Amino acid sequence: MEIYLDNAATTKVCPEAAQAALNVMTENYGNPSSAHAMGRQAEKILESARDQLASALEANSGEVFFTSCGTESINWALTSAAQLMRRRGKHIITGAAEHAATLNAVAELKKNGYEVSIIKPQKDGSTAASDLAAALRDDTVLVSLMLVNNETGAITDIPAIAAEIKKVNSSALLHCDAVQGFLKIPFAAKDLGADLISVSGHKVHAPKGVGALYIRGGKKLNLSPLLVGGAQESGLRAGTEALPNIAAFGAAAKEGLSHLQEYSGQMLRLKEACIARLTVENPNLLVLSGAAPHILNISLPGYKSEVLMNYLEARGIYVSKSSACKKGGRSHVLEAMGLPPAVIDGALRIGFSRFTTQEEIHALCDGLRDAANELYPVLR
Ligand code: PLP
Repeated sequence: MEIYLDNAATTKVCPEAAQAALNVMTENYGNPSSAHAMGRQAEKILESARDQLASALEANSGEVFFTSCGTESINWALTSAAQLMRRRGKHIITGAAEHAATLNAVAELKKNGYEVSIIKPQKDGSTAASDLAAALRDDTVLVSLMLVNNETGAITDIPAIAAEIKKVNSSALLHCDAVQGFLKIPFAAKDLGADLISVSGHKVHAPKGVGALYIRGGKKLNLSPLLVGGAQESGLRAGTEALPNIAAFGAAAKEGLSHLQEYSGQMLRLKEACIARLTVENPNLLVLSGAAPHILNISLPGYKSEVLMNYLEARGIYVSKSSACKKGGRSHVLEAMGLPPAVIDGALRIGFSRFTTQEEIHALCDGLRDAANELYPVLR
């Protein structure tokens, strides 16, 4: 039996996406740039996937650019936005609880002479608009904050962040890492108020190896490309399009959008049921989680995450202790939230998806109850 509860790390490809990829790999395998019927058919599939992403973001198709992953979208957005704005200033603001893709892209910019302010998160891992307001300066040219934190599920009020930038008449561009928010909480690109939005396929039941960057106004923003070469993606992202992945991303976005409320409601109910049972059975348990429906972060202070993970894995239950990109080491997110080491070291992240069942959640709760009884009876 395999119980996959690490859906913030990655998700299973849904049948609609798998079918779309198979079709492109085996039937419509032309190159979208080829000037013959098979090329035109491939281009049609490409543009239809773009329309599907645009619908899911409530954006125009000309504002959606395909990339190879969320990390690429973030790197492109931050590097090129900083470059575009460099004559106005060199101050960048981001958050301490951001994903490594953002923190390391910003660290590279710092090496190239940009000044970086890093805002501490609130207790749940989200960023307060008032903290952003306090960090804004006349020479701030770029702000990058995530919509949903990948470790705690905390939601940052991005429209309020955008409003603070507007309030002081700043020309700073706003990038939002919406990799964990996309198709989990409803949002329209224009309502977020961000100039740039990064999303990733494998978090929403599409394969790994595809992402997208929303650029407000599309080519008009004058963002420079990260990769140069051919004329793909309006010349902004060269390289033959990964059409199987892109078609699958489009299909997954269409499916996710049409059932957004249903799937999110389902995940939220499971998350709440899980919290209810875990807190009754484990009186020491702390819930470190935010409001996103698919991420639950709990801690059993005094216990060790790795030991609990191994115990659960022996039963075929897969959870994680922090971001999958972290591969060991303490969670920088929980540290930035100011949590004590014993709480951080006993933390587990449980990730739900539309495929998660009540039986699986019961198996997890049984597993944690038995782990606590068998491994740490003195703490009970
Ligand atoms: N941003 C967040 C919040 C994430 O959770 C992830 C994935 O772990 C990424 C960015 C990177 O996305 P990708 O794995 O597609 O590069």
